Amino acid sequence: MIQPWHGLIEQYRDFLPVSEKTPVITLNEGNTPLIKASHIHEVVQGEIDLYFKCEGANPSGSFKDRGMTMAISKAVEEGAKAVICASTGNTSASAAAYSARAGLGAIVIIPEGKIAMGKLAQAMIHGSMVIQIEGNFDDALKIVKELVARQNFALVNSLNPFRIEGQKTAAFEVCDQLGSAPKYHALPVGNAGNITAYWKGYGEYQSSGRIDGLPKMLGFQAAGAAPIVRGHPVGKPSTVATAIRIGNPASWKGAEAARDESGGVITDVTDKEILDAYAFIASKEGIFCEPASAASLAGVIKLSQRGFFSSGDTIVCTLTGHGLKDPDNAIQLSKQPLKVDAEISVIEDVLKGCCI
Ligand SMILES: *Cc1c(COP(=O)(O)O)cnc(C)c1O
Repeated sequence: MIQPWHGLIEQYRDFLPVSEKTPVITLNEGNTPLIKASHIHEVVQGEIDLYFKCEGANPSGSFKDRGMTMAISKAVEEGAKAVICASTGNTSASAAAYSARAGLGAIVIIPEGKIAMGKLAQAMIHGSMVIQIEGNFDDALKIVKELVARQNFALVNSLNPFRIEGQKTAAFEVCDQLGSAPKYHALPVGNAGNITAYWKGYGEYQSSGRIDGLPKMLGFQAAGAAPIVRGHPVGKPSTVATAIRIGNPASWKGAEAARDESGGVITDVTDKEILDAYAFIASKEGIFCEPASAASLAGVIKLSQRGFFSSGDTIVCTLTGHGLKDPDNAIQLSKQPLKVDAEISVIEDVLKGCCI
């Protein structure tokens, strides 16, 4: 029989700060596919084994659901009346879904004009109060922090430690799925909560005796939004990968600790490298992720060109969000549909030299 899955709080309860009193607000998140890449040798040198951890398969379409099941469950336990977050899109989509589930109000503050269409639609349809500000994510987070100090709202950005607790379960799943930790774990870095969470998760799994070794953490920022790489905040972050368009990450120190303690690397990738990897993952691997997610593979490709990896290395790339969230980029980057008369002969002409 197929093992029932009741969400990550039930699955990893022993590792999470919950008790019998915690009302578990879940959409059965987690248990996402770990898919082995099949065409990676076309872009990465050497015999490496690369896997995609497909976090777009979570209920709201991104890894944010892992943190949100924890943050919203704890907010309900603590009697919060409403939750609030600043968001580049996916945090608000997830907060909106889980607070709808819990019957809580949600307020989301988003930067004007830079939110991918799917994410905005999610926040709206789940019934949260959506406020767009004339400013970027960093401005939005500042406002949210001030509001939380003045009002009785629960903050559900990754500054909320329960978010990191939930997100660390992705590392547990990778180990359970692979049978060990990979040699390298690559992921995009925006506000840097996720790299912090994975590193915590791997550490806890090792301490509990579930795995022997730890991976080296590889974090990738977009070149136009790479404060950790540059060593100072970036005032006007800019990148096509809106989910990582962040100039002053909240978990900056956590990301540096993950890098330094694991012996890993945090570096940057250009928008072109991100979009090339995004198109490769969709057209060769059959997986539709959002542009920010592809920064993980773009970074692995870049490091491999410098001879960074050895034969036999195992690498896991987290694909953080689903491609359907950001249809505009997919459409812009792709060949447009041909428009022809509705006639078999015309269509057969068009198809000559193609696939038949
Ligand atoms: C939030 C997000 C990121 C960045 O994660 P951080 O924890 O902020 O570093 C990357 N990709 C997607 C799709 C996201 O939603």
